[in-house]
Amino acid sequence: MDNYRIDTKCVQGGYTPGNGEPRQIPIIQSTTFKYDTSEDMGKLFDLEASGYFYTRLQNPTNDYVAAKIAALEGGTAAMLTSSGQAANFFALFNICETGGHIVSSSSIYGGTFNLISVTMAKMGIEATFVSPDCSVEELNAAFRENTKAVFGETIANPALTVLDIGKFAEAAHSHGVPLIVDNTFPTPVNCRPIEWGADIVTHSTTKYMDGHGVAVGGAIVDSGKFDWMAHKDKFPGLTTPDESYHGITYAEKFGKEGAFITKCTSQLMRDFGCIQSPQNAFYLNLGLESLHVRMPKHVENGQAVAEFLEKHPKVKSVSFPGLKSDPYYEIAKKYMPKGGCGVVSFELDGGREAAGAFMKKLKLAAIETHVADARTCCLNPATSTHRQMTDEQLKAAGIPAGLIRVSCGLEDKEDLIADLKQALE
Ligand SMILES: *Cc1c(COP(=O)(O)O)cnc(C)c1O
Repeated sequence: MDNYRIDTKCVQGGYTPGNGEPRQIPIIQSTTFKYDTSEDMGKLFDLEASGYFYTRLQNPTNDYVAAKIAALEGGTAAMLTSSGQAANFFALFNICETGGHIVSSSSIYGGTFNLISVTMAKMGIEATFVSPDCSVEELNAAFRENTKAVFGETIANPALTVLDIGKFAEAAHSHGVPLIVDNTFPTPVNCRPIEWGADIVTHSTTKYMDGHGVAVGGAIVDSGKFDWMAHKDKFPGLTTPDESYHGITYAEKFGKEGAFITKCTSQLMRDFGCIQSPQNAFYLNLGLESLHVRMPKHVENGQAVAEFLEKHPKVKSVSFPGLKSDPYYEIAKKYMPKGGCGVVSFELDGGREAAGAFMKKLKLAAIETHVADARTCCLNPATSTHRQMTDEQLKAAGIPAGLIRVSCGLEDKEDLIADLKQALE
């Protein structure tokens, strides 16, 4: 599959049936797997042989779909998780334990910000947040002796800032740590962070990858490029023996290509169990089969809606990296020449009252906390996800009270614009 183009990988990657086998990925709806001898099973528990024994750790359906996502991102190994939150937690915690430190872009998904700044802080992991637009000097100044990873989002949800992946990768590598990029919004159809220097890529597959609002899920992809043994002292979990697996050393036994995902599966999935159900992995694969067809349409609709809003007198400002007036236009063009995604943010004069009145009038665009769905949806953070914050706090967080986030679906763009137009009037 490696030699095929991305459209072909979306449709056929990850699973190649043999003679007489199911054409579609089979759903292996089984918690457990049968062996002829205890010795056979023992080899699995020692990581001496690869195979399945319990669906809390691994399941063949999940692995077919993970292999497709690895192929799409250009990675060497991947795994599915129960949610995007689990994917980001696992990706970070696999290399960053108590006493460690993370450098993260400040412009990230609220759930991830909470995960890093509150929950992981309780585990004794500190973080320094930097603006995605910071200078190289400011970025380098955020690193410490105990820094283990750098984190950012290709296109941030909901701020729609664009990460300079090359700048962040260079800083991470010069400090001997990997760059982890959450690539949920552009998907590998529009951006492949590994090609720009990212080492680990994560996804909330709940969004465009599923794309139909059907299944919550996540994924982690390893580029296979980061040399853990070259930074032996920083990553003892990968470079020293794991006593829970009879003293194997992941980076030695599975190499750069397999160590990260093998450790993440055999330790974190074993102990936390945030596995995606095989049924959900099957739904996710149906979404992936049309991802390359859907993404250009989401981008086209987002562009049309952003251009319409920008010209409307009642609209104060619009954020969409595909607009020439957007501060991220040039950088988005570099990393995402085919466009980013279909999410547009805009601000109305008149704060939350105006936003509420406007949204009440929408007929096609539904009010939801979701994004990246086939159906257009919208949200006013000030009256929903961020309603506990005052106007001043909202402004400081870059989310003015009148801000509305529209996730443009796959409908006809003229119908979407007509809906927005009648609601604005
Ligand atoms: C939604 C989202 C997440 C969290 O994913 P869930 O599947 O909801 O757990 C993480 N990162 C980004 C960029 C997201 O949009």
